[in-house]
Amino acid sequence: MTGRQKNMAAREFLSTGVTIDCNASLKLRAGDTIFTNLYNPMFTLLSDDVGEHDLLHPCCRPEMYEFFYHNGAGHPNCLENINGCLNKQYPVIHPVNLFMRTIINPDGSISVEQPLSQPGDKVVLRAEMDVRLGIAACSVSESKCNGGKCSPIKIIIEP
Ligand SMILES: [Zn+2]
Repeated sequence: MTGRQKNMAAREFLSTGVTIDCNASLKLRAGDTIFTNLYNPMFTLLSDDVGEHDLLHPCCRPEMYEFFYHNGAGHPNCLENINGCLNKQYPVIHPVNLFMRTIINPDGSISVEQPLSQPGDKVVLRAEMDVRLGIAACSVSESKCNGGKCSPIKIIIEP
C-alpha cells in the first residue's frame, strides 16, 4: 500500500445518517441494521442489554473539548484514538455511540444524559461484510455522557 492509498478515504464506510434513514428512527434497537454510506448492511444489532445508543454526535475531538470545557489541548479523544488505531486521518468520524444516552425532545432540542448502562452490559453485533473497525472508550469525563467517569470496555471478536 502506498502512502497515497493509505491516506485515501475509504469509499464505503459506516454511516449513521443512512442508518437513521433506513431504520426510519433516530434510535438503534435490537434487530436493527447499521448501514454504510452506500446503503449496504454493515452490522446487525443482534442483542442489546441497554437499548439506548446515540447516532447523532460525531467523535469527540480536541476542538469539542475546547468549545465546551476549555481544555482541548492534549485532551485524549475518540477522533485521534480511532484514527490512530486505523492509521488514518479522517477529518471527522460519525460513529455509533454505544450506550450514549441522548434525549431528543419534541422541539428538536437534545441533551446528553447519564447512561442507563451498568458494568457488564453488552451489545452483540454481527458483521454483514468484511470491516476494519476502530473502537474507542470515550474520553469525556466532564459531562454526564459517560457518567462523569471514563471506564474501560471489553471487546470480543469471534470468527
Ligand atoms: Zn469520545
